[in-house]
Amino acid sequence: MTVVSSVLTRLGRAIRGMEEPAVEKISADTREDPFQVLISTMLSAQTRDPVTHAASTRLFRAARTPRTMAALSRARIERLIYPVSFYRVKSRHVKDACRQIVERFGGRVPDTMKDLLTLPGVGRKTANLVLILSHASRDNICVDTHVHRISNRLGWVRTRTPDQTEQALYRAVPRRFWPRVNLYLVTWGQNVCRPVYPRCRACVVSSLCPKIGVTRTAAS
Ligand code: SF4
Repeated sequence: MTVVSSVLTRLGRAIRGMEEPAVEKISADTREDPFQVLISTMLSAQTRDPVTHAASTRLFRAARTPRTMAALSRARIERLIYPVSFYRVKSRHVKDACRQIVERFGGRVPDTMKDLLTLPGVGRKTANLVLILSHASRDNICVDTHVHRISNRLGWVRTRTPDQTEQALYRAVPRRFWPRVNLYLVTWGQNVCRPVYPRCRACVVSSLCPKIGVTRTAAS
């Protein structure tokens, strides 16, 4: 087994029982509904998980389909999703994306990277997560700030941006793990391999990790 496989196997076991990331929860609760996965991922950027989850819940209570959400005013969407980060920009993206899904895609969330990337506010992170969670893709890796940071600390990649990390991970990670990289590393990043003061002493992969760039760790 390669080091990367060993790390991912250990993390897969270690995260059992830990709080799942907000979008994973929403996906599980909605039977992988692509629309709700798309919108909650758009809301999640630079926002803490509990805030994302609460804002998504309020928004979906008001509208559950692209058509009904496109009919909400921007001001209403803003009020519903506040206090997610950049709630003004996100409310515009949500409304515009819903309108385009209705007008250009017949009300169905697209199932290809190329089409998803044409929607306002949708980047590769969001598109990859929709493809993995809602369209059961096994060909994508979703990279957010946690995946980017931890992959570099583990020495799997040496990259400056999440997009570079995504491409490098396709070469570094065995294919069978691709759809699960996000879940494993995001959960680990929220609980153990935190941005500052990572808990290396409590980390199940400490012996396999060169801790690149880590200067100060938590006491426990
Ligand atoms: S040993 Fe430290 S740096 Fe490496 S994955 Fe664990 S918490 Fe992160």
